[in-house]
Amino acid sequence: MTIRYYFRKPITPDVRGRLVLLLSNLNETRLIQVPHFLPVHVVPAPAVSDGEGGYGFAAFAWRPTPRVFLAGDVKEIAAGTSMDHQEALEMLEESFIHELVHYEQWRDGRKIQERGVAVRTRNIHRKIKEATAA
Ligand SMILES: [Zn+2]
Repeated sequence: MTIRYYFRKPITPDVRGRLVLLLSNLNETRLIQVPHFLPVHVVPAPAVSDGEGGYGFAAFAWRPTPRVFLAGDVKEIAAGTSMDHQEALEMLEESFIHELVHYEQWRDGRKIQERGVAVRTRNIHRKIKEATAA
């Protein structure tokens, strides 16, 4: 696994800690193979651009090389939605895994699309939680 975080200041310690733990769990469970160098840019904003005119909590880009963007301002995300802080942290994890599933599509030469992504994301997230709860 060659995922590397780039935290753009200010990212709060709880967000950073949560993401570092998630990466360690992803490494340990080997549920996703990442043979490429995959930078993950965590920005202090409630949303990131997908580069196509849309905004979301996370985005995957692959031209010219694969990379992930995560909206790391969880406090602002919780304030702007009906989520509490814990739920927003959960959602951050889920968003990251979602983009990794898009990475898998790209890695395998498949079309980048939403079909099947939500289900695989939930399965991976559940397996990680099961593996780390034990
Ligand atoms: Zn998606």
